[in-house]
Amino acid sequence: MVKLAEWQGKAVFRKYGVPLPRGEVARSPDEAEALVREAKVPLPCVVKAQVLAGGRGKGGAVRFASSLEEVRAAATAILGLEFKGEKVRELLLEEKLPIGRELYVAMTLDRAQRLPLLMASARGGVEVESVADAEIDRQTVDPFPGLTGYEKRRAAKVLGLSGPQARSLERVLDSLWKVFQQEDAELVEVNPLAVVGDGLVALDAKVIIEDDAAFRHPEYAEVRDDRTELEEIAREKEIAFVQLDGNIGVIANGAGLTMATLDVLKELGGEPGVFLDLGGTDDPKKVTEAFLLMARARPTAVFLNIFGGITRCDTVASGLVEAMRQVPAADRFPLVARIRGNNEAEGIAILRSAGVTAISDLRASAQAAVDAARGRA
Ligand code: ADP
Ligand code: MG
Repeated sequence: MVKLAEWQGKAVFRKYGVPLPRGEVARSPDEAEALVREAKVPLPCVVKAQVLAGGRGKGGAVRFASSLEEVRAAATAILGLEFKGEKVRELLLEEKLPIGRELYVAMTLDRAQRLPLLMASARGGVEVESVADAEIDRQTVDPFPGLTGYEKRRAAKVLGLSGPQARSLERVLDSLWKVFQQEDAELVEVNPLAVVGDGLVALDAKVIIEDDAAFRHPEYAEVRDDRTELEEIAREKEIAFVQLDGNIGVIANGAGLTMATLDVLKELGGEPGVFLDLGGTDDPKKVTEAFLLMARARPTAVFLNIFGGITRCDTVASGLVEAMRQVPAADRFPLVARIRGNNEAEGIAILRSAGVTAISDLRASAQAAVDAARGRA
């Protein structure tokens, strides 16, 4: 997935004529201050973290500033943030516009109907996640005629716009439709699309380019995707490692077993926080590397679910015990293991002698991991 940062999405919007606030990118507090001092961004302004995660407004990653001092303070604070696991490296500084209402519009694909889908809601802004489904209007769009007058008028009605504001919406939707088609996007989302006087302005931009169309868009080749720092390191080491929102680390072998393990933890009320798929490896060096990476994600507890088919349980166990020794004392966490298959008894013995809870039954072991994460072990 090629997910564009807000400023990159807005650069695409600009090309297609979507109205935007004046804005510039800065990578340090000095640069931020210079943009304002040189009047490239007027005051009052908005200082926005350029991270791929949403919810910046609620999470302190969007701040307002009305003086040079406030710009510097906001830039310093936001550049120091680690927002949902992502270090903030870039800021977007924008003029602060006087917002009337905040609307939501998006173009995406309805995979069930195999058609583009236009979504619109009068209740845009930072609370959009809690807006009821019924308050989001959905219209599929026939790709051949493209967006028609009817669809645009219906959207205007849903959004409560008439007169010049409705005409502004029609132009915005035409532009977004072009972005969606010509850039091969799978999502083009504007939240909020703000009512400012007689017109509309896109205050936020979320654009995701369809992976399968990447060959048509060499201009996006350099865009970083949404891997976290640890995921990036894992990728370089060819370790399958994914960070989620929970607190239980999962180590399993094979994609199927890994997914099933996440499901079992979820079902028992646990929240998987990061998972690691060892695949077919039992190379102790690789296991150690993977485990150390897991430790850096700071899980509350780790659940190890290994099936030894080709992999030998005892070599995986030895690799893990070796890896555990290398984790700094302050970063240790309870480890619960379920290990079955080839040389199972030896594997369990190795783990138990290292103080690991080893249980053969899947549910019982998963429950022990959930309890350990809750501090009830
Ligand atoms: P996120 O979706 O990550 O929370 P947004 O870019 O949508 O971030 O910004 C959050 C809120 O900040 C918006 O809903 C809007 O109220 C306000 N905001 C963002 N940009 C501007 C701007 N240029 N002028 C005025 N308000 C803004
Ligand atoms: Mg937004």
